[in-house]
Amino acid sequence: MKYGEITHFSHPQHKLRFEYVEVPFKCDGCKEVGIGSRFKCALCDYDLHKHCALPAPSSSPAAVFYHPFYSKCAFQFLARPPGDAPRFCNACEKDVNGFVYHCRACGFDLHPCCANLPHTLEAGDGLRLYLYRKVGAPCHRCGRKGRSWSYRSSCKKYNLHVSCVMEMLVESWQEIYFGGGVGAGGGGAAGYATSGGGYVTTRGYGAGGFGNVPRKVDGGYGGIGKANRIPSIKGTAQNRHRRKGKVKKCCEMAGMAVQFIISAVLGDPTAIIAGVIGSFISR
Ligand SMILES: [Zn+2]
Ligand SMILES: [Zn+2]
Ligand SMILES: [Zn+2]
Ligand SMILES: [Zn+2]
Ligand SMILES: [Zn+2]
Repeated sequence: MKYGEITHFSHPQHKLRFEYVEVPFKCDGCKEVGIGSRFKCALCDYDLHKHCALPAPSSSPAAVFYHPFYSKCAFQFLARPPGDAPRFCNACEKDVNGFVYHCRACGFDLHPCCANLPHTLEAGDGLRLYLYRKVGAPCHRCGRKGRSWSYRSSCKKYNLHVSCVMEMLVESWQEIYFGGGVGAGGGGAAGYATSGGGYVTTRGYGAGGFGNVPRKVDGGYGGIGKANRIPSIKGTAQNRHRRKGKVKKCCEMAGMAVQFIISAVLGDPTAIIAGVIGSFISR
């Protein structure tokens, strides 16, 4: 298989071409946001995360995916979540609206990008982050221990839930769409319903199957790309560390770590997002 160009079952009419972009896009497979590597049909503006375009293992339909956190689970790659009940990703706690790894035996679900989150992230300057299913220390952002998977720094001083990273992104994107006078009135409602699938619960969406998935013509993450709207992250780490002295260093590290975690969560840990999402660090 040529890596640069693939034929995908979800978009059989055209080939999808590999490309790399440093602006967010909405994946038409899992309906989540992506950045960096993607497979795209330029004719249709159809985008897939690398992990959605090339699910592992892709050799046969019966093949299953095993995750070290759930060693007894045999995950199958499905084009949409099974059944009609709302489903949530066990890694990030967000809705599952499209492509998913699903374990039939226990009902666990993982977004393709969550299933492929790196277990170790090299965050630069010798800082390493390790992925844990649970950590015993509070999260840097929400102050809680439980909830979703977390990345923890090698020095163990810094923990951040994958779900909290998602929330930061959601908040900043919501602000772009619904706050700050950006198209707040008028056709806002329609834009909301059709383009919000990435992070707003729209159940009918996932159940419709491929044939009925609305094209992301108005607004949506495609809109971000086109308008070159840069999301910035709210709720930064600074608030939680008020002790003098250590503040700066700790928060510099936190900011750096967040960038790496964000790009991993968005499907490409190698993506350079400093210019895209990193503006909060300089505040
Ligand atoms: Zn995807
Ligand atoms: Zn196409
Ligand atoms: Zn299972
Ligand atoms: Zn997830
Ligand atoms: Zn948290």
